[in-house]
Formats: sequence, structure tokens, C-alpha cells
Amino acid sequence: MPTHSDTAPTWIPGACPHDCPDRCSWQVKIEDGAAVELVGDKLQPFTRGVLCAKVDHYLDRVYSPDRVLHPLKRVGAKGDGEFERVGWDEAIADVAARLRRLIDRHGATTVLPYSYMGTQGIVQTSSLDRRFFARLGATRLERNICASTAGRGIVATLGATTGMLPEDIAHSRHIILWGTNTVVTNLHLWPFIRQARAAGATVVVIDPLRTRTAAQADWHLRPLPGTDAALALGMMHVIVNEKRYDKDYVERHTLGFDRLCARLDDYPPERVAAITDLPADDVVRLARAYADTQPSAIRVLVGMEHHAHGAMAFRTIACLPALVGAWRHRGGGIVDFTAKPHYQALNVAGAEKRNLEDRSIRSVNMVQLGEALTSEAMAPPIHALIVYNSNPAVIAPNLNRVRAGLAREDLFTVVNEQFLTDTARYADYVFPATTQVEHLDLLWSWGHTYVTLNRPAMAPLGEAAPNTEFFRRLAAALDLQEADLYESDASLVRTALDSDHPYLDGVTFERLWEHGWAPLNLPADWRPFANGDFPTPSGKCEFYAEHLQAAGLDPLPTFEPANESPAGDAALAARFPLLLMTPKTPLHFLNSSYANLPRHLRAEPEPRLDIHPADAASRGIADGDPVRVFNDRGAIHLRARLADRVRPGVVAVPFGWWKAHAPAGALANTLTADGLSDLGGGGDWHDTLVQVSRDEASHTAPLRNGQMG
Ligand code: SF4
Repeated sequence: MPTHSDTAPTWIPGACPHDCPDRCSWQVKIEDGAAVELVGDKLQPFTRGVLCAKVDHYLDRVYSPDRVLHPLKRVGAKGDGEFERVGWDEAIADVAARLRRLIDRHGATTVLPYSYMGTQGIVQTSSLDRRFFARLGATRLERNICASTAGRGIVATLGATTGMLPEDIAHSRHIILWGTNTVVTNLHLWPFIRQARAAGATVVVIDPLRTRTAAQADWHLRPLPGTDAALALGMMHVIVNEKRYDKDYVERHTLGFDRLCARLDDYPPERVAAITDLPADDVVRLARAYADTQPSAIRVLVGMEHHAHGAMAFRTIACLPALVGAWRHRGGGIVDFTAKPHYQALNVAGAEKRNLEDRSIRSVNMVQLGEALTSEAMAPPIHALIVYNSNPAVIAPNLNRVRAGLAREDLFTVVNEQFLTDTARYADYVFPATTQVEHLDLLWSWGHTYVTLNRPAMAPLGEAAPNTEFFRRLAAALDLQEADLYESDASLVRTALDSDHPYLDGVTFERLWEHGWAPLNLPADWRPFANGDFPTPSGKCEFYAEHLQAAGLDPLPTFEPANESPAGDAALAARFPLLLMTPKTPLHFLNSSYANLPRHLRAEPEPRLDIHPADAASRGIADGDPVRVFNDRGAIHLRARLADRVRPGVVAVPFGWWKAHAPAGALANTLTADGLSDLGGGGDWHDTLVQVSRDEASHTAPLRNGQMG
């Protein structure tokens, strides 16, 4: 394999590694072995050379003085962040010895990996790490904090998450952006939407929050959070009763229409209005426009899934395109994740060696890390935690419980990281991880259909090493012999590309090395369900899905109120009457990434509570006042911002800040629920109820001029 030194190009192709659908291609300029410039690759047809505000200064991250560049050993109390520098050999040998002792005493399931998509490539996200933990026989981690609930819901109706090509939304004439802030979190889709709009398309946003995308829409509907299934059912009620559905498509390509119709009797617009708090006329108007204007497209991502009934919401919405025959048209249907064709084409299972995993070994849901670390029911308890690609001390729900677990003196914690994150501060050892310009990776995308190779553009700084190298060294220190644990990164890329799937025709390592990206070879006329062919058990779009009954769910689309809601628990709702949303801070942070860098913190200096003026007035709260937000899981102290960004009855606290950077340590996930959603094991934290009061004994820093715009 050529390396940066023997090919010595000035510009080296790569790609953004973040958990974002857009997967931007970039080029890195190297001078004297150092990266001096990083820009978007203008030739990539989907991302077109534009990097978002988060990543536009990626080299700030690479060269940050706060990078962890050497192994660190804890010398202070857990959580204090006091470490001393140690050598790799000494550190990895001690980690191996301590793991070996714990495994000998408690069995290998006392070890728990914790990782997600802090970097999102096949090599550095899910390859040797999966092989290592499978070989060890460690407790398995269910990595479903995002997307699995939405995906399982869509699959219940369509059989796959495969939908429209994102760029085909340019052909749509009616576009619903349902629970997604496209302008900010999927910004490279927006030009295609603008193209559709220029040709006369209407853009509707359905979102409880007044987002930047909502502000640019032709029409913004603001249902109560968690009521999307009811809105979709109300739309279907109108479409069926007014005979606006595509009779031919429904008869030929759907299952259970008669049973669906009986269910829709329960959802007249007036009842839907009562559930969603939208005017009944709006439900009717939306249904008519959606059905009558073809091609019509619905864009969903993950915003709606973090509810107890999140999968049912996606499953219900996924019924709409078949009802109106939208799938017939280019520009019609649902734009969902594009991960499926990547996973069909690439040999991801080979890179992970999924065959090594023993699925009879117990598993822990990553949403419930706090419970896993603190529950007395865990036998054996988790005594060793190995964290990489994630920062659970900020991003996991029910944080007080998570942090109580991380603070356990009998928990041996190892973190492989680029920075001393809140999680790393609890570690016994921190190992220095490379950034994207320092390692090799092969990346798929969940927002477009281009495969991307990220070349290492420069040598790792300090003693940083790729995730794969960390696991190679740990395997060697444990004296594990299997060759699978030591495959090189270049070989892993070739393994992932080793596929005879037609989508990958002509997509070779050499081509990617040269150009950085290549499109999957998809059929020119991509209308996956124009003629039915749904990959469901029946081969049809399943309005009635028999298999849901086996999972304890209603086989028909339905709406159910959340557990934490007035209808679910009236007593709880009386104590905590406000619904809490914890949106991302999408302009400058990506989850908790970038929330430690000065440029980004200047743009997002502190989390604030968004509260509707009516809810604020009834609590004697003025704009900028210090407030306490609390429930039975904890309390946080921050400042209020009065705005109609939220609707009455709903408050919002964005997440992402690290404790050290958030005034009074106000972390939104202190409050969030850690129950599971109905399918896919995702969380239900958007069902969280809270109360808000004016904070007479303010814990927040004095207000700085201009801070509370
Ligand atoms: S975070 Fe998303 S939009 Fe920003 S550079 Fe990365 S892939 Fe592109």
C-alpha cells in the first residue's frame, strides 16, 4: 500500500468521519508532513465542497493543545481528570494484566465495551474491536442509541429502510420534512429541496420546535412531541374517506387495507386534533395536499424515534406513500437512511467477522449504561469498561446514574480518545486516539450513495494510534494468538471491498485511493417500490403486519400515549407538567464532539432552557432568569430563554456540552428517561417530563453581555 510519504501528493482525499448523514468528502493539503489546509471536495456530486460550521475548521481539532497525545494513568479521584503520562508498553501491559485478573475472577462477561459512532468508518468503528471482544467473550453491547428504532419501524411496513434516493427529492412536488432539521443536520440535501421548490414544490415541516428549517418552510405544523403516529393516522383517515387514495396501487401492492380502514375510523381529524394539539382543519389540509400533489416525498431521519412508541410512529408514517401511490413516481416515497445499499454492497460483516460473535452471551443496551453499571441484578457485575468512539458521561440518558456507575472504585475503566472527555476523566487509563487525518478508513453514508476512502494524510501526532492499533496492542498484551485480531487497516479496507455485489462493480481500492469516493452502481431508474416488490413477508407494503403481534405490538398502525405523559401517568404529569425536548446543538457541536473547542464554545457558550412565554409567565420567569429544571432523576440550573421556538407545555434544553464547560454543569441528560422504545431498543428520552421554577439561589454564572440573544 502506498503511504503519504512515498506518494507525497500535496492534496490528500478523505472524508468527514462524523455521525451525520452527509458524509462530506474533503481534501487535505500537506506541507512538510503537516496538514495546513482542509477543504471540501468540490467534485463530490452530493456534498459539493461544502463543509458545515462544525467541521470547517477540523484542523483546529487535530492540532488542539488539548489533544491526548500520550497514554495517561489516573492519579486523582475518578472524575477529577488528574493523570500522569505513562508509556504505551507499560500502560497496555498493566491494562492487560488487570483485565486478565478480572476475567479469571469473574469471567469474561465482566468486561463491557462501550462505543458508537464517534467516528463512523468501517475500519475504525467496527472491525478489530468487534473481533477482540468476541474473542474475549465479553458482554455484548447493543449499539442502538440511534436509528435502530426508526429503522425497525420503517422495516415493519416496507420490509427495508430502502427508500427514494435523496437527490430525487428534486423531482418532488410536495415535500414533508417530518421531525428533521434539514438545513442544519442534513444540509447537503437542502439544495435538492430548493431545486424542487424552484420548480413549484411545497415544503412542509412537521416539528414541535421552530427550527431553522421550519422557519424556511412554506408551512410549519407543530404537533405535540410523540403524537406523530396520530397525525399520520388522521391524514390516512381523510385520504381514505375522501377517496383520495390510489386504489389500483393499494389493491395490487398492499396488505391489510380493509383492516387499516377499520382502524382509521378511530382517528377522525377532531380526535387527532385533540391528541396532537393541531387544528383539525390543518390535518385535513395536509392530507389533501399530500395525496393530491404527486410526486410527494416524506423525509424522515431520527428525530421522532426517541419515544416509547417511536417505532410505531415510523411504521405508521411509512404507510402513507403506498396509500397515495407515491412510490410510482421518481421523487415520490420516503427518503430514509441510505445505509442499506452500502451494507448490501460492502462486506461489513467480513470486516467485523460477525461469525466470531457468540450471541448466547448476555448483552447490555447502551441506552441503559447507568443501570448496567449500578444494578445489583448484574451477575457478574461489570468490572471492566472499555470506551472508544463515545462519551457516555454526556450523551447517555439518566446521567446521574451513568456517572454513579463510572465513579465506582471497583470499575476498571479504559478510554481510547482524542480528548480528555467527561468520560475519560473517570478512566483508569486513557489512550491517545488518532483523528481522521491520521488514519485510514472506508466510509459508507446514511445520507447518500457514495462510498468514500479516507487516506491518512499525515503521521499521527505524539503517540496517538488508530482504534485498530489500540486493539492490536491490547490483544498482543493479552497474548491472544488469532491472526484475525491483527489484520492491517489496508487489508481491512480490502476485506470490506471484497464483494461481488453489482453495486460495487468498478469500486476498487485503487480507484478510491486515487479519487477518494465513488458512487454505488445503482439502477438508473431508482423507484424501488414502483411495482410493489416490498421485501416484507407478504411481498407487499404491510398495513397489517402479522409479525408485530409476536413482538407484543399492534399489527396495525396505531397511536399510544407515552408512559411519561398525562394519559400514561397522571400523577407524574401533575408533578412534572412540562415535556422536555433535548435536541442536539447541531450548528456547532455534533453530539458532544467539538463541545470542548474554543471556536465552537464561543458560538455556543452555554445551554439554555427554551420556554414558551405563557409557561414562563405562570412561573414568574423572565427572559434570562436563572431557572431550575428538575424531575425525580435530577436537577439542572441554567438560564431561561423565552421564545416561541417551543410551544406551550414543552421546554427544550439542548445537549452536547461537557460538564466543565456548561455553567453549573447543566447537562440535559441529567433529566432524561432511560426506558426503551417499542422496537429496536432505542431510548425514550423525548418522553421526559420535568418541572421548571425560578432559581432564587442561582447556580449559574453571571450573564455576559450579548449572551442571551
Ligand atoms: S458533520 Fe456532516 S455536514 Fe458537517 S462536514 Fe461532516 S459530513 Fe459534512
